[in-house]
Amino acid sequence: MIGFTLDNRQLEIQAKYRDFANRWIIPNRLKYDQLAEFPWEIVKAAYSEGIMNGPMPAKFGGSDYSIFDGAIASEELGAGCIGIGICIDANTLALTPLYLAANETQQKKFFGLINEQKAVAAYALTEPNAGSDVAGIKTAAIKHGDKYILNGHKRYITNGEASSFITVFALTNPEKGARSLTAFVVPTDSPGVELKPRLQKMGQKASVQNEFIFHDVEIPEENRIGDEGTGFLIAMKTFDRTRTGVAALSVGNARAAYETSLNWAKRRIQFGAPITANQGVSFMLADMATEVEAARLMTWYAAWAYDNGLKNASKLSAMSKMFASDIGMKVTTDAVQVMGGEGYSTEFAVEKMMRDAKLCQIYEGTNQIQRVVISKNILK
Ligand SMILES: Cc1cc2nc3c(=O)[nH]c(=O)nc-3n(C[C@H](O)[C@H](O)[C@H](O)COP(=O)(O)OP(=O)(O)OC[C@H]3O[C@@H](n4cnc5c(N)ncnc54)[C@H](O)[C@@H]3O)c2cc1C
Repeated sequence: MIGFTLDNRQLEIQAKYRDFANRWIIPNRLKYDQLAEFPWEIVKAAYSEGIMNGPMPAKFGGSDYSIFDGAIASEELGAGCIGIGICIDANTLALTPLYLAANETQQKKFFGLINEQKAVAAYALTEPNAGSDVAGIKTAAIKHGDKYILNGHKRYITNGEASSFITVFALTNPEKGARSLTAFVVPTDSPGVELKPRLQKMGQKASVQNEFIFHDVEIPEENRIGDEGTGFLIAMKTFDRTRTGVAALSVGNARAAYETSLNWAKRRIQFGAPITANQGVSFMLADMATEVEAARLMTWYAAWAYDNGLKNASKLSAMSKMFASDIGMKVTTDAVQVMGGEGYSTEFAVEKMMRDAKLCQIYEGTNQIQRVVISKNILK
């Protein structure tokens, strides 16, 4: 028997995140969209109210959320503002390799540091010549005694300038290429870490991205996460856990755009009647309502599959990210169309939702790469 209702605990998570979004995110989203700055006041409030680090262990300051719980939370953050929501979720992305592969001492130290300082971390995989093709990574951490010396270049690093440490993926043996990829924790105040100016971009502007250049950065051996050569697996297993989060942010954003345009359309009178009297409008709204429901169900199913250890969980997580973010793009575009000039203006934030939706089709693996993952999976 399959149930589609949330239990009391899940309803509490939903209510808590929705309330946080209503009080902190929605009133400030246009401000941060214009400022294009990291929303520290909101992240600090998120720490105070137990909104940060949901999927991390409760004994180290998290909330022991399952991936399904996390999807419920992320939908509410996305319904507020994906740009602000991803500041919170990108921190989870950065901590997930530690959750998966760090030993107890490392988890205590790094999760403790993040929680005590109410700080954020960043996840650094992408490089100028290694975007979709992770095998192209050139950043190297070469062992010298009990240290590694890190040299290389990472780009598009979300939370970069705001972060206390970065989870960096680097080669420990460049001759072996990605087979030597290894995860490290690199404090951003380490000598030799060069921070470049933030990326100027289309949407999700509350979220900041930077390039980092590493010049002979010394990393102590105890900052290596997992064994040498386990980095590729850690990075991919991380995405299996986090892609449903991107899907859920997309569902929330699409839901907000749909609801905004529905409420507006019911009140907008043209030709002597609400514009919803025209099938050209009401059918668009019917499609949007259906698509939001379908994207949510796909996301919930993928999250549930992960939590229940289903063999096809990785494929489903790629499907959910691809499907929900494509739906997010379509629904937000349609919301602007339903609202005409008001949709294009900044007042109702639907043009922002449309700009924000685009990035979910690109980061954490483009939707073409999700199709590569899915097709390999179904053709093997
Ligand atoms: C705002 C933002 C935030 C980001 N945050 C982070 C972060 O925190 N940490 C991090 O490590 N990275 C981050 N990224 C990087 C992001 O994951 C990459 O941009 C993404 O994986 C694509 O890489 P690319 O931009 O180099 O595009 P490319 O790989 O150059 O791709 C260009 C185009 O070619 C297509 N393509 C490439 N290969 C194939 C293929 N085999 N089959 C079909 N199509 C293909 C792509 O789908 C895309 O349409 C972020 C990016 C952005 C823009």
